[in-house]
Amino acid sequence: QDFKTQEKSWWCPGCGDFGVLAALEKALVEVGADPSTTAIIAGIGCSGKIGNYINSYNLHVTHGRTLPSAMGVKLANRDLTVLAVGGDGDAYAIGMGHFMHALRRNVNITYIVMDNHVYGLTKGQTSPTSEIGFHTKTSPDGSIDTPVHPLMLAVAGGATYVAQGFSSWQPQLTHLIVEGIKHPGFAMINVISPCVTYNRVNTYEWYKKTLVNLDEDPSYRPTSRAIALARLEETDELVTGLIYQEPSVPYEDQIPGFSKQPIVNQNWHVDAALWNQILEHFE
Ligand code: SF4
Ligand code: MG
Repeated sequence: QDFKTQEKSWWCPGCGDFGVLAALEKALVEVGADPSTTAIIAGIGCSGKIGNYINSYNLHVTHGRTLPSAMGVKLANRDLTVLAVGGDGDAYAIGMGHFMHALRRNVNITYIVMDNHVYGLTKGQTSPTSEIGFHTKTSPDGSIDTPVHPLMLAVAGGATYVAQGFSSWQPQLTHLIVEGIKHPGFAMINVISPCVTYNRVNTYEWYKKTLVNLDEDPSYRPTSRAIALARLEETDELVTGLIYQEPSVPYEDQIPGFSKQPIVNQNWHVDAALWNQILEHFE
């Protein structure tokens, strides 16, 4: 199945988001997903445009609300492959409350955060992942806020699948998304996706020199929260690969009596007399 659309891209030439889109398309093909049973729930930001470029169901929701919307879609129709996709502002500022609870709830969806350490759509302000000292129009003397560490939060918050990819490293990123989709629970994939227009510090060249690829370290085993946290702290989260995974039973399979049949396919017949009774309350 082809997941490409005819929509002309809106992103700046060279934006890392092109790499995330390419890897996501490849991953959907590799897992045998079908456009008619795939749903992309996209947030607000440059990254949120990704839903327009993928041939599937696409819900472009309000700022920060990708996760509750995606979990709602999955719980209503568990036959769908559901992916939530947003940026670092959407995920870790306005969406942070939802993020922490999605981690412990473990609904079977895949969450891809396109992290460029800046607000691109609104023309370059500090984001929750901006480094201390990062200069923008709104932080002319350099940011003084401690950056959020999303991977450590995810591991500590109870996530059952945590990974980080880099938009330029396509085979690894594609593999991480494939495994995230296959993971029976909440899969959190932070993707370093450089903004070439508003972030001249965290560039492709900088990441290529700085990132440590866990796939090249045979001693690393992504099966211990303590080891994952220690490695993330040592490297200031500048790693790519699978960071942590554990056997998982998704939330929806733990709800007693929750039908295997998607809610959307159930017969929700409401008796006419009962319906009239309900309506009377609003008269
Ligand atoms: Fe990409 Fe930055 Fe341009 Fe947005 S502003 S499309 S994040 S390069
Ligand atoms: Mg951003």
